Amino acid sequence: MDSNLKTIIEKRIEKTIKNLEKNNMQAYYVESKADVADKVRELMSEGQTVAVGGSMTLFECGIIDLLRSGSYRFLDRYQDGLSREDIEKIYRESFFADTYISSTNAITENGELYNVDGNSNRVAAICYGPKSVIIVAGYNKIVKDIDEAIDRVKRTAAPANTVRLGCQTYCREKGECMSLAQGETGMAAGCGSPQRICCSYVVSGYQRVKGRIKVIIVGEELGY
Ligand code: SF4
Repeated sequence: MDSNLKTIIEKRIEKTIKNLEKNNMQAYYVESKADVADKVRELMSEGQTVAVGGSMTLFECGIIDLLRSGSYRFLDRYQDGLSREDIEKIYRESFFADTYISSTNAITENGELYNVDGNSNRVAAICYGPKSVIIVAGYNKIVKDIDEAIDRVKRTAAPANTVRLGCQTYCREKGECMSLAQGETGMAAGCGSPQRICCSYVVSGYQRVKGRIKVIIVGEELGY
């Protein structure tokens, strides 16, 4: 990365980390995705029960491989041969995990996390249940405020995820949320597809339990 651009991005990351900490979340910066697994390992103990939210970032950073190493009791939603019923069982067991690891759809410079789910298992576990939550996010997830976070999900995160998941939605075809084309405003405006992936909209702001949520910001673009 160009060093001037890197300086600007790091200033933005610094501001975001300061505000996440004001909101009682522990926040860390690591320079590259190669550094993420070591940081995640530091934040857990061997033998812990660990679950994950659906995320490309976790694959990109080697976290799924780390969890499959045998050092943890991994509730592996990605293992081969699982039925829908098995996966639902893992989602429910995840609420009792020691650690839940996920990415996020956006992080505001004000220190908030913004997440939108179809199933809602991920946002539910971020809000309550697991004793510790680790969020891993590339710097590309940083936005100015909640309005920009909403826009990011409608223009980038949701359309890309519908392609990844093969959902029959307007955004998969057109590349952006239906609400934008129709000029509808509001966080929850969208399509009427049975496969819609935007159903629960969660902003994580000031946390009562200090340090339960830990955020690792990576100085590289990850996920979408
Ligand atoms: S509401 Fe529908 S069209 Fe809009 S981003 Fe979500 S899935 Fe796509």
